[in-house]
Amino acid sequence: AEELMIQSEKLSIAGQLAAGIAHEIRNPITAIKGFIQLMKSGVSEKKMYYDIITSEIERIEVILNELLILAKPQVVQLERKDIRVLLAQVTTLLETQAIINNVQIITEFDSSIPHIQCDENQLKQVCINFIKNAIEAMPSGGTLVIQLTSKANNTLLLRFIDQGCGIPAHILYKLGQPFYTTKENGTGLGFMVSKRIIENHHGEVTVFSKENIGTTIEVSFPIVQD
Ligand code: ADP
Ligand code: MG
Repeated sequence: AEELMIQSEKLSIAGQLAAGIAHEIRNPITAIKGFIQLMKSGVSEKKMYYDIITSEIERIEVILNELLILAKPQVVQLERKDIRVLLAQVTTLLETQAIINNVQIITEFDSSIPHIQCDENQLKQVCINFIKNAIEAMPSGGTLVIQLTSKANNTLLLRFIDQGCGIPAHILYKLGQPFYTTKENGTGLGFMVSKRIIENHHGEVTVFSKENIGTTIEVSFPIVQD
């Protein structure tokens, strides 16, 4: 009975996804079609229409890129990596975005951090998603602390602690549902994709949040001894 339930839950997630994709992609496509028709009718502001069409196509690309991560084979390419190196690369990548948004990124790493088995690119994707969400949650700036600690029970804890808008308790469950977003240009896919990747690494993600105080995203990974 339990297996059956899991099966039907999977179907409903697939159904949710399909409905979401259809909806999310239909909007920009409708817009593109409309502007092409306008251009055909010989209006003069063609330049502006090209720009709108390009940005609508870019939106479809963003959505498809996130979905493709989900569609990729579930088998991850695991290699032993120092997650500190990976985090340094990711924060360098996002430094400009942080500075523009008045966000200071502080890293607090324990002196001894064991390597973990991971798919480097996928894990980078996860960190990028969480850091971007943290920056976007602090529209008037603030501090993002990225913490790495290892626990005695063979787990590695990675925390992203922001001082952002927070998430109301009654909304928390929506995080990770496809297409749930509160942002004008959000896709509502980043968290779901990240959660999936973490689970593929046998890890877990927990969200602690307080409205107007901030959010902590805590990711735990098993440490495999060799
Ligand atoms: P997107 O960023 O495209 O909206 P995500 O799946 O990354 O999609 O996040 C879904 C929603 O969860 C966001 O729109 C936001 O409302 C909420 N959220 C995620 N991370 C945070 C955070 N650190 N602080 C506040 N809200 C967050
Ligand atoms: Mg996001």
